[in-house]
Amino acid sequence: MSTLVMKFGGTSVGDAFAFAMVRDIVAEQARGGDRVIAVVSAMSGATDELTHGIVSAANGDKEIYHDVCNSLRERHVDVIAESIRDDATRDRLISIVDTLIAEYANLCASVHVLGEVTPRVMDAALSRGERLSARILAALLQQADVQSKAVDATDLIVTDQTFQNAAPIVQATRERISAHLVPLLDAGTTPVVTGFIAATQDGVTTTLGRGGSDYTAAIIGDALDADAVWIFTDVDGVMTADPHTVPEARVIPVISYTEVGELAYFGAKVLHPRTIRPVIEREIPVWVKNTFHPQRPGTRIVRDATNTHGTVKAVTMITGLSMVTIAGRGMIGIPGIAGRTFSAVAREGTSVLMISQASSEQSICFIIPTVSAKAVVHTLQEEMERELSRRDIDRIWADNDIVIISAIGTGMRGTPGISARIFGALGSAGINVIAIAQGSSECSISLVVTSADATRAVQQIHKEVINHGK
Ligand code: ADP
Ligand code: ASP
Ligand code: MG
Repeated sequence: MSTLVMKFGGTSVGDAFAFAMVRDIVAEQARGGDRVIAVVSAMSGATDELTHGIVSAANGDKEIYHDVCNSLRERHVDVIAESIRDDATRDRLISIVDTLIAEYANLCASVHVLGEVTPRVMDAALSRGERLSARILAALLQQADVQSKAVDATDLIVTDQTFQNAAPIVQATRERISAHLVPLLDAGTTPVVTGFIAATQDGVTTTLGRGGSDYTAAIIGDALDADAVWIFTDVDGVMTADPHTVPEARVIPVISYTEVGELAYFGAKVLHPRTIRPVIEREIPVWVKNTFHPQRPGTRIVRDATNTHGTVKAVTMITGLSMVTIAGRGMIGIPGIAGRTFSAVAREGTSVLMISQASSEQSICFIIPTVSAKAVVHTLQEEMERELSRRDIDRIWADNDIVIISAIGTGMRGTPGISARIFGALGSAGINVIAIAQGSSECSISLVVTSADATRAVQQIHKEVINHGK
């Protein structure tokens, strides 16, 4: 008998057909005698819609959130009407949908009056999506004679107060998970847990960051010392590139925790970047599989994966970025500029994705999300006011429409020719590389291009460096 955590993403519960696939996958495993914990995301697009509704309310729009309520109600009620046979269960679920959506509408109405939405209120609003889908899946499993219960992760995962990107408090979380889930599992019940959401010690709802349901599954896997965590999604596994950008991308059968961590960090949305952290210590294997083709092998993520020397496993990109540059001939030899720069950026609460400094010390450039670019440039201009007035620094500015592209694979370690192949591939396609950085683990090389070149750059690296010789 194994303990398995099975997580289903938004597209895996996007409509009644998808819910039925999920029900069958969970039911089969549970009937086979395994202790199964299902973790479920909001229906695809629901979290985006909830965000759009409440942000537009804060910005003074009274209509949009009503549209969001109607559309979300309709989508959930359609699934319930199509899949639930029993009248009483159907009515009970529809009334849950109405209650959760009415609570959301109330939050939007308050935010509209106040004219602002705090991160704490955002989390309360966004948590509705997962609460809805977990209840629907639990009812579907019950209907299929699998004893099941929806569990809100607000009772399981204890976090700090970093709303929208909360960090779990490990010990308290482990205790809550054992206290709540083990008795259910012992009684032969399959819990269906809401992904993405959690709560502070005081019970205030938080979220783990967008895409955080993968992380929820890993946290539960660790706390229960599960035999495996299975991440079910809409593609066949972790692939050599995003198949939506590179149609000839292939599934990677086995990949290491380190590599997949790097892949996620550098933009492969298939796994939330923090997913791997909880499972490393106990070396719990993670599988990524396709909900719509569960018989396909998928990807196995383990501590050590075999690597062919000199190979790149995958290529990723992160969009929506800006490059901030501080330049000036007078910067040469002035100590502390870099330190002051990054302290100022940190004060803004912005994390830096990549840094590169020209060896002549005449400029420092770094990459941050575009949403923070204006504020960061302003803060830096204040911080460097003296240097700017003395002309030691000539200018501080941000270039938008920047993309980081990363080539990833531990097989790259100690293989100098790789960078040359990557730049050769881009050079022959006439793509200009703006900046370069190599991770100290030598497990990745990142480069910066404009967004106009990004897709072509990814395709080119995939074709010339990853597929070459296959
Ligand atoms: P879910 O809703 O199941 O969590 P996501 O949309 O968060 O699914 O993640 C799956 C998506 O990740 C895929 O549809 C694919 O477009 C994208 N993706 C990006 N990079 C990769 C990659 N290297 N391998 C697989 N999928 C990737
Ligand atoms: N529903 C959340 C989101 O869209 C969490 C997740 O899907 O993993 O970000
Ligand atoms: Mg996801």
